[in-house]
Amino acid sequence: MTVQTIVPIHPRVQAFLESPRRLLINNQWVEAASGETFETYDPSNGKVLARCARGGLEDVDRAVRAARAAFEGAWREVSPAERAKLLWRLADLIEAHADPLAQLEALNNGKSYISAKGGDVIWSADHFRYYSGWATKIEGSTIPISVPRHFNYTLREPLGVCGLITPWNFPLEIAAWKLAPALACGNCVILKPAEQTPLSALYLGELILEAGFPAGVVNIITGFGNEAGVALTHHPEVDKISFTGSTEVARAIIAASAGNLKRLSLELGGKSPCLIFADSDVERAAEQAALGLFGNSGQSCVAAARIYAERSAYERVLEGVVAVAGRLKLGAGMAAPQPDIGPLISERQLGRVLGYVQSGIAQGAQVCAGGGRALEAPLAEGYFMRPTVFTNTKPEMALVREEIFGPVAIVEPFDSFEDAVRAANDSPYGLAASIWTRDLSKAHRAAAALKAGTVWVNTYGMFDPASPFGGYKQSGYGREMGAAAIELYTQLKSVWIGL
Ligand code: ADP
Repeated sequence: MTVQTIVPIHPRVQAFLESPRRLLINNQWVEAASGETFETYDPSNGKVLARCARGGLEDVDRAVRAARAAFEGAWREVSPAERAKLLWRLADLIEAHADPLAQLEALNNGKSYISAKGGDVIWSADHFRYYSGWATKIEGSTIPISVPRHFNYTLREPLGVCGLITPWNFPLEIAAWKLAPALACGNCVILKPAEQTPLSALYLGELILEAGFPAGVVNIITGFGNEAGVALTHHPEVDKISFTGSTEVARAIIAASAGNLKRLSLELGGKSPCLIFADSDVERAAEQAALGLFGNSGQSCVAAARIYAERSAYERVLEGVVAVAGRLKLGAGMAAPQPDIGPLISERQLGRVLGYVQSGIAQGAQVCAGGGRALEAPLAEGYFMRPTVFTNTKPEMALVREEIFGPVAIVEPFDSFEDAVRAANDSPYGLAASIWTRDLSKAHRAAAALKAGTVWVNTYGMFDPASPFGGYKQSGYGREMGAAAIELYTQLKSVWIGL
């Protein structure tokens, strides 16, 4: 089913898209030193939305210098209570600008404007509020040492200049996950949004200026991973990189960090398993698993990509997932009424996802729903992919092992608890997992046995700024959100006083 009416573009968004988008360095909007720009697109129709400055080595260097000067100067003078106020003010501004922010997210990423407004934008504001509270609560401790006539305590101090590199699937929200704790802890930052989706971060830059952050505290460099991203990760004056993206790029970042031993936090790929036992509310579990996969068109690091059902419930689970795949409405981010899922981010991504589908078919896996791109008007103009369901896969297939980042579900049966946990853990990734059962002890045993940074029991995709999030195994290291993120953006100093 297609949805065609289009929500009118907000006048602020219109104005924002009409003028070239620049880099934010030292509270000034500036062109790239090279004068070069790049185009950013609407993935629902492939049309150019805006031109952005193509940041490179020289721009990153200027931004790092500005951040360093602010860190050693003006930002140091801002009290924790003032930092808290700035973060809270920014959250209020995000809410006040929810419409234009959600529209930019919808236009540039393809996700629904209504879901971006009620979800991504509000969750970003919540994140800034949560860490606003932390700014005044970052404490050291007094240590009960055994050395006579000495007193020892710790100071928890900011790291300095942090590079924040974000992906295109939740552009505003993931920027908030990094900016809020980094700033609450007293760091200065350079944000490098994904080249596919730079617009919401640039709009946020305007709100950061309006909130009153001193010059140099937040710098935003748009550009490509192999230019601006590489320059940031190699820069000797950058103390830390916080990265969300692919495991492959993370390996390059780890290598780049060796130069000056940058601190790293990495939130990477996933291939999250979902275990549905016959004693659960099977219909609900199948539906939630399907939505947990197809949401955001499967372009989510916690997508429920591998659905395992107890053999006696397998047929019902497969039917349930196929039913959801068939009923989801595809449409542009700005379409009304709200479509369920949007396009993939780019032609390249669509090609990648279709490649996995074709390799699965060639290896004998069975397609139960979808299986290709949406070819009817107006969807054919964009990068829309039909929600796809596979069964009869083999554990060694790329379809089962690799992160697809598209709406492709795998549904397979299991015979016992041990069998289910073994299949779930048979992955190089370990970001999230879920289990559906009414048996409390089975739920707790699975929660302990699953090798994943997040386990959802009888629910899916829950997040809260207070609850830590991050990966086991090759899904990364470090925990964002909650108290854990304070550790990602601070270091501990031990102070000895001779008495
Ligand atoms: P995806 O595969 O989901 O597009 P990537 O891991 O390629 O995700 O990109 C996530 C972010 O990392 C983007 O902002 C991108 O520009 C950036 N990036 C890509 N390559 C590099 C690199 N070699 N060094 C630093 N950043 C990079």
